[in-house]
Amino acid sequence: MTDTALMSIPGPIDPVPVARPDAADGLTPRSDGRIDLLGLPRERIAIFLAEAGLDDKAAKLRSRQVFHWIYHRGVSDFEAMTDIAKTMRPWLAERFVIGRPEIVEAQHSTDGTRKWLLRTADGHDFEMVFIPDADRGTLCVSSQVGCTLNCTFCHTGTMRLVRNLTPGEIVGQVMLARDALGEWPRGSMAGLEDEEDAGHYSSDGRLLTNIVMMGMGEPLYNFENVKSALRIVMDGAGLALSKRRITLSTSGVVPMMARAGEEIGVNLAVSLHAVNKETRDEIVPLNRKYGIDELLTACAAYPGASNARRITFEYVMLKDKNDSDADARELVRLLKHYNLPAKVNLIPFNPWPGAAYETSSPERVRRFSEIVFEAGISAPVRTPRGRDIDAACGQLRTAAEKKSRAERDREAAAVA
Ligand code: SAH
Ligand code: SF4
Repeated sequence: MTDTALMSIPGPIDPVPVARPDAADGLTPRSDGRIDLLGLPRERIAIFLAEAGLDDKAAKLRSRQVFHWIYHRGVSDFEAMTDIAKTMRPWLAERFVIGRPEIVEAQHSTDGTRKWLLRTADGHDFEMVFIPDADRGTLCVSSQVGCTLNCTFCHTGTMRLVRNLTPGEIVGQVMLARDALGEWPRGSMAGLEDEEDAGHYSSDGRLLTNIVMMGMGEPLYNFENVKSALRIVMDGAGLALSKRRITLSTSGVVPMMARAGEEIGVNLAVSLHAVNKETRDEIVPLNRKYGIDELLTACAAYPGASNARRITFEYVMLKDKNDSDADARELVRLLKHYNLPAKVNLIPFNPWPGAAYETSSPERVRRFSEIVFEAGISAPVRTPRGRDIDAACGQLRTAAEKKSRAERDREAAAVA
C-alpha cells in the first residue's frame, strides 16, 4: 500500500502519526497498472526490471542507464534511450513510465517569480514556485497536498484534504522546473557505463541552483518520501545538487528533526514565529505538542549545524501579535540561551482572502530586525516575491480547493 491515502483533518494539532510504516513503498499511483520509475532509487528500478524478466546483471546495467537518462537528460520516453536496444524500448514502455506531475496552469509574476499548479495522476492539485534572483534560482517544492497543521496565518493550512506526495511527485517538481527552464544538457552520453564518469556534462550556468522544501505541507510529516526524493536530488548520478543548496523547513516536528539531520543532512529552517507559549500555541498549534524549549533543544542538537551552516529561524511578522521590541529581545535571549548557530529570516505576513492578520508596518519590521542584528544575529527581511500571483510564502492553496470551497459556499447558500 502506498502512503498516499487522503486524510481529512480531524483537529489542529498533530493529527497524523509521524512515521507511517507503509511509507517506504512510495510508488506514485497509476490507473493503467504500469510502474512509474520517477522517484525510485536505482536499486529499486533494478528489482522491478528483474521482476519483469531480466537477469540480475542486465537489470542492474539497465537500471543505471535508465537512471542516467531520467535525471541527467530529463528523458521521459524510453524511445529516446539510444544506448538501450531498439527492441527493448517498447518492452520497457509496456511495463513502465517516467512520469511527471501534470501542469494545470503556469503563472508568471511581474517580478519574475513563476508558479505552477500541478496535478497528481490521481487528480490532486498542488503547487510549486520558482524564484529567480541575480545569483541563484530557488525552487520552492511541496511535500504534501495541503497540510494538517492549520497554522492560523497560512493559507495552505486551510485546505480540507491532505495527501502525502510520493517521492516521484516531489522529484517530479524539480524535473518539471528543469523542463520549463530548458536546463537539460544536450551533450553526448559517452562514458555512461562508467560510474566514475557520471555527471561529466557541465552544469555551469544553471538557473535552478537551490531547493527549499517550503511549499505546501509539512515535510517531516512525510519523512520517508521527502528523504527518498532528496536523496535522488543530491545523488551525483541523479540530479547532483549539493545538500548545502537544499533547505528543509519544519514547523517543529521535534521527534523527526534528528533523523532529518542524520539521514537527509540538508540545511534546516524552523518556523518559529513566536517566542512565548501563548502566542505560539495560537499561531502554530503544533506548539501545544512540542513547545518552544523542546524545539530549540532539538535545534541545538541538529546534526550538521555549525557557524558555517546556520539554522534559519523563520519569523512571520504579524501586526500587534508577535512584532514588539520585547518579542525581538526575547528572540535574541532564546537563541543565545540555547547557543544556536542561528540566522533569523523575517517574513512580512503575506495576506490571503479571509486571513485574520495584518502585516507589520515596514518601520516595525525594520526596528525588530535592528534589535536582532544589534545582538550579533543576522536578521534580514525577506522581500515578498510573487504576491501578485499568490505565490509568496503561505499563500499557496490550490485553485481546485478554492473552487470547491466556492462550490460549497454555493451549496450552503442553496440549502439556506
Ligand atoms: N510546513 C513547513 C514548510 C512550508 S511553509 C513550515 O511551516 O515550516 C514555508 C514558510 O512560510 C513557513 O515559515 C511558514 O510559516 C511561512 N508562512 C506561512 N504562511 C505565511 C504567510 N501568510 N505569510 C508569510 N509567511 C508565511
Ligand atoms: Fe502547514 Fe507550514 Fe502552513 Fe503551518 S505554515 S499550516 S506547517 S504549511
